[in-house]
Parts: sequence; structure tokens; C-alpha cells
Amino acid sequence: MTINCIFCKIASGDIPSKKIYEDEDVMAFHDINPSASVHFLIVPKLHIDSLVHCETHHQALLGNMLLLAPKLAKAQGLVGFKTLINTGAEGGQEVFHIHMHVLGGGKPSKA
Ligand code: 5GP
Ligand code: ZN
Repeated sequence: MTINCIFCKIASGDIPSKKIYEDEDVMAFHDINPSASVHFLIVPKLHIDSLVHCETHHQALLGNMLLLAPKLAKAQGLVGFKTLINTGAEGGQEVFHIHMHVLGGGKPSKA
């Protein structure tokens, strides 16, 4: 676990999340500030700063994250969805623990 990384803390259970999936290597939880009516994040438990920091030995992990997207989207009631990986501050990344956004279902309903 990387100290002061919010997604490492979510992965270890130190910070709560609305979890929708977990296995040995990956978890998925709803984004705290959704940009769509369904907006969740697929996050490896292993701390990797960003896509730029991925190496060949991360290939299976990245593939597993991609393959999870349609399964979890379907379970959330989505027929179609968008996937997004922001990379680097200039790419809009705010949390420097790699994650994939999955968004669908139109605009979020107002709280
Ligand atoms: P990024 O801009 O790094 O691609 O996206 C980070 C995402 O993480 C943002 O959409 C933000 O709302 C979400 N986020 C930040 N902190 C938390 C948190 O503590 N819990 C959850 N569930 N999502 C978070
Ligand atoms: Zn981390």
C-alpha cells in the first residue's frame, strides 16, 4: 500500500466505498462525484501511479480490468457505456492510482 493514496486506502478498507465488485486483484466502486447516472471506477489493488507507469507484466491485470467493464456495466443495468482512463495531470488525472471510469445511463439525477 502506498501511504496517502486514497484508492489504496479504499482497497484496504480503511476508507469506505460503495463497492460493487472485488476479487484478488481488482475492485470496483461507485465514484463519489458521479458524472453520469451510473459512474463507477475499476481499480487494481496494486498501486500503479498511472497508465504511463504500466509495464509488460501488468498486461493481464489491465486486460482483466477491461474485461470486467462490460460485465459490471451490465450488472448495473447499462446497455452501453463509456470507459475512460485519465493519465497524468494534463490528462485530467486527479488520483494517481490507475483506475478506469465506466459511465452510462445519461446525466446523473440531482440529489
Ligand atoms: P481521475 O480524475 O483521477 O481520473 O478521477 C478520480 C475520480 O475519483 C474522480 O471522478 C473522483 O470523483 C473520484 N474520487 C476521488 N476521491 C474519491 C473517494 O474517496 N471515493 C470515491 N468513491 N471516489 C473518489
Ligand atoms: Zn494507491
